[in-house]
Amino acid sequence: MAGLADADVVLIGAGPVALFSVFQLGLYGLTCHLVDSLDRAGGQCIALYPDKPIHDVPGFPAIDGEELTARLMTQIAPFSPTFSFGRTVSGFAAEEDGRLRVLLDGAESLSARTVVLATGLGAFHREDGEACLRPGPSRDWPLARTGDAFRVGAETFETTTAGVFAIGDACHYPGKLRLILSGFHEAALMTQAVRRRLAGGGRTTLEYTTSTRVAKKLRGAAAGEE
Ligand SMILES: Cc1cc2nc3c(=O)[nH]c(=O)nc-3n(C[C@H](O)[C@H](O)[C@H](O)COP(=O)(O)OP(=O)(O)OC[C@H]3O[C@@H](n4cnc5c(N)ncnc54)[C@H](O)[C@@H]3O)c2cc1C
Repeated sequence: MAGLADADVVLIGAGPVALFSVFQLGLYGLTCHLVDSLDRAGGQCIALYPDKPIHDVPGFPAIDGEELTARLMTQIAPFSPTFSFGRTVSGFAAEEDGRLRVLLDGAESLSARTVVLATGLGAFHREDGEACLRPGPSRDWPLARTGDAFRVGAETFETTTAGVFAIGDACHYPGKLRLILSGFHEAALMTQAVRRRLAGGGRTTLEYTTSTRVAKKLRGAAAGEE
């Protein structure tokens, strides 16, 4: 799942909230590419507390960061996301055709219809085997903030730049909680806003995973695990 590829949605960050977004966006047929400065997925859960049990993920009385990340990767596999690990996003810019160009360290870039900032508290880098957090280039991106977080509306999760969304620890709105479960909720609402935007503002129908048109694909993937 490595390599650069243009996608409907480029997610900056591959923490738990970005991973669950791939599932939500995938339900509606949207393809995702994720970029993370770390060499693997999982964000803070992997970088800061991989072995600590987390007790407030619904349905799991206790789950550690390694297992949560592995389960999320399994859950999103049917949607075939692509990843760029060990790469830092330096910025993004609007293109004439309405797409967004996401600039990576070095000369490479990606093109997307929508960009989702799931940058958490900042970019992690490995130094002598230890993950250390740096504010990273996101500090200079021209978006309104509250404190260190991108200001969003709690209905759409769109930032002050059209087509650029922020979720998880990277975003702020009244009542925001920096919790994984809040990020999962934000991923679901962001997905609906992205769908509306890409569909030109039209009405959208909610998909239940029990009866969605992709249910067969999901059941096939789940059966393959057994
Ligand atoms: C010690 C500790 C214990 C915690 N315990 C709990 C708990 O019990 N329950 C709970 O719900 N929450 C807990 N949290 C909070 C939880 O970890 C976060 O809410 C969650 O990780 C946020 O997920 P995220 O995907 O938004 O961001 P993150 O997990 O921070 O992931 C963001 C990713 O984006 C990458 N990134 C950032 N900028 C760039 C860039 N420019 N280019 C490329 N990559 C970039 C980073 O490297 C990182 O991997 C805890 C946090 C800590 C520190």
